Amino acid sequence: SSMTKEDVLQKAEELDVKFIRLQFTDILGVVKNVAITVDQLEEALEGEIMFDGSSIDGFTRIQESDMYLKPDFNTFTIFPWRPEAGGTVARLVCDVYNPNDEAFAGGPRNVLKKVLKEAEEMGYTMNVGPEPEFFLFEKTEDGRATIETHDQGGYFDLGPVDLGNDVRREIVLTLEKMGFEVEASHHEVAPGQHEIDFKYEEALRTADNIATFKFVVKSIANQYDVHATFMPKPIFGENGSGMHVHQSLFEGSENAFYDESDELGLSQTAKYYIGGLLKHAQALAAITNPTVNSYKRLVPGYEAPVYQAWSSANRSALIRIPSASGVGTRLELRNPDPTANPYLAIAVMLKAGLDGIKNEIEPPTEVVENIYDMTAEEKEELGIESLPVNINQAVQELLADEVIQDALGDHVLKHFVEAKQIEWDDYRTSVHQWELDNYLETF
Ligand code: GLN
Ligand code: MG
Ligand code: MG
Ligand code: MG
Repeated sequence: SSMTKEDVLQKAEELDVKFIRLQFTDILGVVKNVAITVDQLEEALEGEIMFDGSSIDGFTRIQESDMYLKPDFNTFTIFPWRPEAGGTVARLVCDVYNPNDEAFAGGPRNVLKKVLKEAEEMGYTMNVGPEPEFFLFEKTEDGRATIETHDQGGYFDLGPVDLGNDVRREIVLTLEKMGFEVEASHHEVAPGQHEIDFKYEEALRTADNIATFKFVVKSIANQYDVHATFMPKPIFGENGSGMHVHQSLFEGSENAFYDESDELGLSQTAKYYIGGLLKHAQALAAITNPTVNSYKRLVPGYEAPVYQAWSSANRSALIRIPSASGVGTRLELRNPDPTANPYLAIAVMLKAGLDGIKNEIEPPTEVVENIYDMTAEEKEELGIESLPVNINQAVQELLADEVIQDALGDHVLKHFVEAKQIEWDDYRTSVHQWELDNYLETF
């Protein structure tokens, strides 16, 4: 669907909208809002709403702080939860522009659009379907998050009443009212852990959806007085939360990843795309797994990938080929987690895949065995490398990978790397509970 300015104005009137939130994300993926009243909607739709970019992380310096928000009309939607007294609230996802009417290079949505354009020039559109996982935890009486769950002994479905279940149902209903097509929603392996999968869509729409999804999950959880977290590994010894990303390229209405004559149903294009993803996997990790905690999830034994390999069969691989054919043919990249900025994450994955196609990068042979069970020698023989073990290593890999740097552009790269170096230094120099537990009495 392609909405016009008039369509938006008309819809706003029909739905009795009083407030509109102009939504965008900063470099680290935090959703920001500028709220306006319906009286300012027309001005907003003209892209004339200004905000102070210097107050947004990694945006601009004080001297050049005026920025403009240009709404994407197709993203107009109502917040279906109980309106604040006196009127319905709607939102529009926006692109950030400089005063000279150029797309701002530090806007993550602009970064994704740039790589999508590159794909388009090669004749491709990208479809993306995410599988975000998250935890619902109890809060203390004074409202602080805990890591206690509402699950009954881990057997979620056996509990007579389970708040987690209710909250998830309400989240799904809300998403559906906002136009999401929810394909699956279920309890995950760990106590208190959930997954909600929504239907694949064109890449930009999916990135908007992921940003919106996280915000909806948190808002609804809050209403039920539970804490929702997308932190990748909140509990040692339990599964972490990932966000598998299913992806495919289309040429018009044809799936460019499908080839009937291939044993796995994969075209040469899909294979080169896999080759590109694997080649750039280490640098990608900095963006798809951007926090210190992300790397506590990427360890053996919890269904999260640790090694760079692809497979049509096993789930220990970084890239899995789900058994689907025709339009459904796709790859599943399994390392991303929901702390990733969805715009940047999709941009770098696509960039890596396109690089594979352009340079005809053949992927290594498929690995059918469980990689967790292989010895170091076996892995070495098959040329299976490991993903970075921490965010510092991932950032170093990013700084050594010009293709991925090019996808991000200088502005985002600089601010992202700076932020991550500060985060890593802070973590590295802190003294953690583990150290006290292991050293305080021993030495
Ligand atoms: N939670 C697992 C992860 O960290 C995935 C589990 C699954 O969906 N099979 O990626
Ligand atoms: Mg799943
Ligand atoms: Mg899952
Ligand atoms: Mg999956």
